[in-house]
Amino acid sequence: MPDVDIICIQCKAEFLFTEKQQEMFYQRNMMAPQRCPQCRSKKAAKRPDAPSKYEIVCDHCGKRDSVPFQPKVGRSVLCKECHEATRSRARA
Ligand SMILES: [Zn+2]
Ligand SMILES: [Zn+2]
Repeated sequence: MPDVDIICIQCKAEFLFTEKQQEMFYQRNMMAPQRCPQCRSKKAAKRPDAPSKYEIVCDHCGKRDSVPFQPKVGRSVLCKECHEATRSRARA
């Protein structure tokens, strides 16, 4: 199988789908990629299997909430409201 050029459906850039990649894709029963590696890695950055929410208990008011990042152990975490409050206080 020769290398093929594919036009990215997202950014319209041409990219090479190499023989090696084709082999890998066919072995996994996958369709040829439609996006260039750059667009794909942008997409991969948003891993759907990664938990997007972490349960926290607010250090300030004791309310349960979830945050989009993994809270650091030993660091105080605040619920959305308290976080907003401290942020607006800092800005003022
Ligand atoms: Zn692209
Ligand atoms: Zn709170």
